[in-house]
Amino acid sequence: MPEIKNANFIKSSTELKDCPTPHLPEYVFIGRSNVGKSSLINMLCNHKKLAKTSSTPGKTTLINHFLIDDSWYLVDLPGYGYARTSKVNRAAYKKMIFNYIENRRNLVNVFVLVDSRHTPQQVDLEFMEWLGKKRVPFSLVFTKLDKLSSSELVKNLQKYTRKFLEHWESLPKTFRTSSIAQTGKDDLTSYIQDLNEQVADHILESYQASKKQ
Ligand code: GDP
Repeated sequence: MPEIKNANFIKSSTELKDCPTPHLPEYVFIGRSNVGKSSLINMLCNHKKLAKTSSTPGKTTLINHFLIDDSWYLVDLPGYGYARTSKVNRAAYKKMIFNYIENRRNLVNVFVLVDSRHTPQQVDLEFMEWLGKKRVPFSLVFTKLDKLSSSELVKNLQKYTRKFLEHWESLPKTFRTSSIAQTGKDDLTSYIQDLNEQVADHILESYQASKKQ
């Protein structure tokens, strides 16, 4: 069974240039504030308090790097679309995140988290559209599955799919998760580990080549 054994916080950065060296495969977790991102990261890493869960949305404001099993980086990005953040903050946030995502050379995949209970939100759809435009690979992660009955879940996912397909030709890879019920952990971990096997050597070589220049 795939399992994360070691997860360590490395650093918080405000800009791309301050991030750890890009020699390992990297995966981003992002979503609207309160979507359950910190809980999901903690579940994946078998750690109660690695990412800070909070009842105050919009608290994480930095690019947070965690080193997983000495072989890949998990990146916790601030929750977007939080209405109470000032306009200036929102603009600065967008600049920081977009610059990081667009230019981080070892970024393998972005996991976009959405609450299974909610209808597709404009801010999520716009963000995924931007990822598509920039050709950044992403997956959809439905969170808080335990809050719905299985029939409600089916209905909501159908609604989500319909809306998504108004903008896209097909659905990206999707995951269904609940941090409370520990759902989706193996799926996510194996997906990341499989990708790591495919890309790790290339990422390391390209980092070493860039250092020689
Ligand atoms: P973040 O702001 O996206 O990092 O969200 P948090 O992980 O801090 O979670 C926000 C709220 O949702 C907290 O009250 C969590 O306890 C709750 N929550 C997170 N994940 C789940 C889940 O899978 N199931 C349920 N029922 N609640 C969750």
